[in-house]
Amino acid sequence: MGVYLDFNSTAPIDERVLEEMIKIYRNTPGNADSRTHTFGDDARQAVETARADVASLLGVDKDEVFFTSGATESNNIAIQGLKEYAEKNGKKHIITTSVEHKAVLGTCKALEQQGFEVSYVNPKADGRVSVEEVTELVRDDTVLVSIMHVNNETGIIQPIKEIGEFLADKETFFHIDATQSFGKLVDELKAIKYDMLSMSAHKISGPQGVGALVLRKKRYKLPPVKGIMYGGQQERGIRPGTIPIALVVGLGTACVLVASEYKQNQEKCLTIKNALLEELNASGVKYEINGDQNYCVPSTLNICFNGVSSEALMLSTKQYCGISNGSACNSKSYEPSYVLTAMGIPTEKIENSVRISWGAESDCEDVVTSFKELLAVAKSLAAF
Ligand code: PMP
Repeated sequence: MGVYLDFNSTAPIDERVLEEMIKIYRNTPGNADSRTHTFGDDARQAVETARADVASLLGVDKDEVFFTSGATESNNIAIQGLKEYAEKNGKKHIITTSVEHKAVLGTCKALEQQGFEVSYVNPKADGRVSVEEVTELVRDDTVLVSIMHVNNETGIIQPIKEIGEFLADKETFFHIDATQSFGKLVDELKAIKYDMLSMSAHKISGPQGVGALVLRKKRYKLPPVKGIMYGGQQERGIRPGTIPIALVVGLGTACVLVASEYKQNQEKCLTIKNALLEELNASGVKYEINGDQNYCVPSTLNICFNGVSSEALMLSTKQYCGISNGSACNSKSYEPSYVLTAMGIPTEKIENSVRISWGAESDCEDVVTSFKELLAVAKSLAAF
């Protein structure tokens, strides 16, 4: 099996999170929306504590946090949920980037088919979009700008702080997909002005299948987002359906843990990154790093091994490590990464690129050992 190096796709659950979840499964049988017994009260209390923990990590109000099944759903609600407002107000223009997660791109495509106009901004070769290019596109009828904080394939950080500043006094909503930065770039996220934020628990060693949509109040009012499913009144109608208490508590616990550990976590990740770069440089393998490393998170490397097919490399290194060449959400069929394509990287280089991502709990020595094996394989494959 080797060493797991695909944390951007999902991070293994933290034992401490799992323990709290098991306690809930064992001892809290109620439904958080039941009002007729103490079982319901206990469940509700667990949910509200978790909500406060998420809010505290982000520096937002508790009533701005809405639990969902994860970032895919949060992105869908944030974008589709504005449809009615947009149509009523004649604001049917959306701005996003061509390197967003498919949960944003797919939702935008669906709205295009329903009469919306969407502008897609391409990144530069460094992986970042230009602030000016985004802000120049904003018009009176622009209802939404949706931009990710950190790209899942490259780890590149987008200039959303500047874009948020520009939009703060405009009548355009700003949604950020913070799935890859939540619980990691904690101080940076607190400083960003946004109206909506999406994230998933499993990227910070919480459980899969839960996340949140944060809706920030402006002049005491939430953005005019409507739920996209019919059903109960849970999560004030934004996300109907029985709240999965253990999952929500898992998310809350993961938030509490990263709130006190994120600085050490980032340092540990950086130590691993530096060690990998050192090995890479010493190996004699011909490579290029995709994306400007001055703007990259310390837990991701997207590497092009010149002349080495990524598919061959991944298959031949399966016993050493688990890496990927793109988002797991698109990996059913191999197509050159649309993210790297949008950065202007030639197809043959994309076919030679792999994503390696790790977490603070990764053991540096194990990671380096497996990476050395990978480098040896890359060398032998390049020789063909
Ligand atoms: N946005 C980004 C940036 C992501 O990396 C992911 C997960 N790969 C998602 C959204 C979707 O998250 P989930 O699969 O948990 O719904």
